[in-house]
Formats: sequence, C-alpha cells, structure tokens
Amino acid sequence: MNLGEQTKAIHAGEFPNPATGASAPDIVMSTTFITQANTAFSAENMDEDMGWIYTRWGNPTIRQLEEKLAALEEAEAATAFASGMGAISALLFHLLRAGDHAVVSDVAYAALSELTNELIPALHIEITKVDTSDPEAVQAALKPNTRLVYVETPCNPLLRLTDIAATAEIAHRANAKLAVDSTFATPIATKPLSLGADFVIHSLTKYACGHGDALGGIVIGNKTDLAALRRKTAVRFGGTLSPFNAWLIMRGLATLPLRMRVHQENALKIAAFLEQHPQVKKVIYPGLPSHPQYELACRQMRNFSGIIGFQVGDGKAVAQRLAENLKIIHYAVSLGHHRSLIFYLDSRELFKTTFKFSTQKQLDSWNAFAGEGIFRLSVGLENAEDLIADLEQAL
Ligand SMILES: *Cc1c(COP(=O)(O)O)cnc(C)c1O
Repeated sequence: MNLGEQTKAIHAGEFPNPATGASAPDIVMSTTFITQANTAFSAENMDEDMGWIYTRWGNPTIRQLEEKLAALEEAEAATAFASGMGAISALLFHLLRAGDHAVVSDVAYAALSELTNELIPALHIEITKVDTSDPEAVQAALKPNTRLVYVETPCNPLLRLTDIAATAEIAHRANAKLAVDSTFATPIATKPLSLGADFVIHSLTKYACGHGDALGGIVIGNKTDLAALRRKTAVRFGGTLSPFNAWLIMRGLATLPLRMRVHQENALKIAAFLEQHPQVKKVIYPGLPSHPQYELACRQMRNFSGIIGFQVGDGKAVAQRLAENLKIIHYAVSLGHHRSLIFYLDSRELFKTTFKFSTQKQLDSWNAFAGEGIFRLSVGLENAEDLIADLEQAL
C-alpha cells in the first residue's frame, strides 16, 4: 500500500502488542533478552532474523522508531543513536580511514565543524572545507582518495542551501559517497535519498522529537550500508539511544507533518514582520523570495521549515535586550521545538572556535548571510501574532 505521509508518521514501524492488544507502542527497557543456547556472542555474526539479544545491538522500541524514520525517508534502513552527533561521528568513523579524504561543508553544525577541524585530521584523514552551495567548489576539492562529501542543507546557522542532486552527481562521478544532514529540512521538506544522496542524518533532538525533551540521532540509507554501519560502528562505539527516548521521539514524529505545516506558516508571517522592522538589516529564510537561493529552495524543499536568520545593527546589545525582555520566546540554543527559541551567533567568536575559511570567497559568503552575527530564531507552534508582539516589545 502506498500510504500518505501523515498515515506513515502515525503508523509506520508501530504495531499493537500481540499479547495485550495495547494500541500505543510499549517501551521495552530491557537491556538483555532470553536467547537460544546457540546464540552468537559477537556482533560480527549479527543477522536480521536472529531475534533480540542485547539493546546495544538492537531493541524492539528503538527498531520501531528506525522503521518509522526509514518509511518517512522512503529508505530501506536506519540506525538510531543517542544524539545527532552520535549519528554523525559513527558515520564518519564508519566511512573514513587514515589516508582517506573527505569534503565537508565549511559551515555546518558547530560540533561537526570542530570534530572535522581537529580530531579527524589528527587521525590522518584529510578534510577539505568548501562552500558546498557552490558545486564547482565541491568539484575542485575532489581528490583520487575522496571517499565522502558531507553537506548540511539548509545549513546551521546560515540557512544556506546545497543542491543535493547536483552534489550527488559530482560525488558519485568521483566514487565518493554523499551524506546529507537534513535536520533543518526534515523528511517532510526534502527526501535527500531520492535526490541521489547515499546517507541522510537527522538530529532527532530537533523537529523529529519536536518537544525539546529527548536527545537522539539517526543515519538512514540502504540495507547493506546500514547493516555494516550497525555491526562495525554503532555496536562498538556504543552511542545507543535510550528506548525511552526512542518512544518519546516516535510520539513526536506522529505529528511531524502537521507541525511542519504550522512551523512554516508561522515562520512566513514572522519573516515578513522582521523584513519590514526598522531595526532589522537582513532576514534569511528559504521561503522568502529575498533568499539568495529561493529558486533552489522551491525546487528542493516542499516545506520551508521554521528557522529564520536575521541581522541587526548591534547584535550583542540586541541579544542582551532579547534575553532580558522576551516573555514567550526562550533565549536558548537548539531548535525545532514546539516552543520558540532564539539565539545570537557572533561571527568573530565563531571564527575563533568553529569556522575556518581558507578563501576570501568563503568569507564573503558567510558575510552575505550572517554579517557580524546572526540571530537564529526557531519559530515554534504558538500563535504567530503572540510571537510577533513578543519580538516587537523586546526589540
Ligand atoms: C543539533 C544539530 C546536530 C547535533 O545534534 P545533537 O542531537 O545535538 O547531537 C547536528 N546537525 C544539525 C544540523 C543540528 O542542528
């Protein structure tokens, strides 16, 4: 049956408990499971129909979440992790070895940027950071030993987009895999695998959970790659998701299609309000015709999601004012929750810790999106009028 997205979000992966008839999924917290005497003791021998053995290898509640997300991404398989970074680091360590080379977005989630600035190169894995919104820059960075192109679209915190189909073609011509962190887009906006990506990553902590009360992450892709990822990396690095968090995230996912609709609707209203505000210098939102890649956003995103970037004259002072005076919107990191969140990212501070540009062109692109600093507003599900009034009084 070819089910619609709302039906999949609610039913995929779930089934009533055959013993009790419980309609809602159970939380199986057991770490170990009664097995046959001849059960293998090494994950090397793990196969699909060997049943449940130990929760780090796999767990019925976590599996339900994995199947739901695989269904939403129209993928064969998924492996969940304790956080988005758990998922990202497992994938990087799964794919890359000493002597390999990877091309990575020069602007992406801070912890990924810092991991690929320091620890990964220290393992003799070469990393080239490029502005992946420019396919020519990706092409020019490729080497005979390039194994992976890693992009985030829209990227955190700039909301700059990467053309997934074009980048997949470039990566594959060089025999490299393409991994896409699609946390901002969610499967509701974009299905990267259908555009040619080999792996999709989500921080489930954000829109998937949607309520700011569970960390989680996931890697999604084909069966062969994901089985190897689970056996070789997930089980051994041990960044296993808690079944309780899997259950919370699954409950959040049931309403993802509905939530994304309201996130977008609210974000469009607030972006329009900010664009006409005298104190706001620039608004970046993929759903605004003023976004430099609006045409790509329309082509690649079926929903523009709920995150807005904006610049003001004196960012640090305004951040102070917002932190003190906002009554509804929380001044806090993270995003994708039902509650609205706002946070200021200062460019100069981020250049010291996180983002290292090697060309003037890369710096110019950062400046075009973020200037001296950018507010990242994650628009929640409150009434848009209340959020606008809150911003108005605090600005
Ligand atoms: C938050 C985030 C991550 C990291 O996820 P955690 O669950 O916090 O580890 C990765 N990528 C993007 C785009 C994010 O926003």
